[in-house]
Amino acid sequence: MILVAGSANLDFVVHADHIPAPGETVLGQDFSTFPGGKGANQAVACARAGAADTEMLLALGDDAHALPLLASLESAQVRLHTVHCPDQATGCAFICVTDNAENAITVAPGANLCLQSQHLPELQSFSHLLMQLEIPIATVTDYAKRAQAGGVQVVLNAAPAQALPPELLQAVDLLVVNEGELRALVAHGGTVATMLQQLDVPTVVVTLGQRGCIARQQDDFVLQPAFTVAAVDTTGAGDTFCGTLVAHLGRGDTLAHAMRTASAAAALACTANGAQSSIPTALEVDTFLRQQPMPDEQQIDMLRSYCGLEAS
Ligand code: ADP
Repeated sequence: MILVAGSANLDFVVHADHIPAPGETVLGQDFSTFPGGKGANQAVACARAGAADTEMLLALGDDAHALPLLASLESAQVRLHTVHCPDQATGCAFICVTDNAENAITVAPGANLCLQSQHLPELQSFSHLLMQLEIPIATVTDYAKRAQAGGVQVVLNAAPAQALPPELLQAVDLLVVNEGELRALVAHGGTVATMLQQLDVPTVVVTLGQRGCIARQQDDFVLQPAFTVAAVDTTGAGDTFCGTLVAHLGRGDTLAHAMRTASAAAALACTANGAQSSIPTALEVDTFLRQQPMPDEQQIDMLRSYCGLEAS
């Protein structure tokens, strides 16, 4: 069983032909609201992957914005541990999506910052604890240390990008980051491979957008090129990847297999708008994967060379 401890936000999404520069006002197109927040998105992805039961610890304000968030999590069959924060607004995110599927996001965390040490449920029935950085970092650190002490695998998606306290990194078994987040964690820049070698975490997965992803597991590298899709909105691709990855690791899949399935789910999530609403079911991912050829040597070599590894 997987526990996700993290944020839930209502996403306010507007489409525009470009992301506004500082001081600029852009006349956008249509506007919609979607249930989001990295924690809730990953919990929905984990539950939809169908490989493991999923529970989520989250904090919500006493306002109408909380209602669609609860409805989305419940309809995905995520079992909830909800902390109510009457003095805070439910978290919100303001998202601009461009016609070529880029996005820019501002988050007002509100109630998400209420999650504290005392809110962590009993951990003994969980195999994995999955967290992100949209709740207080002191809480993330405390939960990670307690999970580690209890023999629960700690998975951290270190997003949004920030440097981490060493005691948090020491408690992490699996770190998932995109390239910008990786850069924020290491002392010296360089290639993806050299940055991966600077991190003292047993397993690190780096997602590289439409290029794919790479993992370092102890001293071995695993490469997974991305699947080709017609992307319309990449919001939630990383979250879909993380939730699916952990669901499959939770049922004992190999890292390579979990990365392939997570990449397929994330690619499909890019083909529809919204975060949670675009996360595919396990059946949709299986059907898609059956139609995909295995990556050829040339694709893998391109990814290897992008990451600064020698060609095979
Ligand atoms: P984040 O959203 O956290 O920045 P990425 O952009 O790296 O994360 O995307 C996470 C994963 O989603 C990638 O490793 C890839 O598998 C998949 N993905 C992202 N963008 C695309 C795309 N345009 N086409 C296909 N897959 C994609």
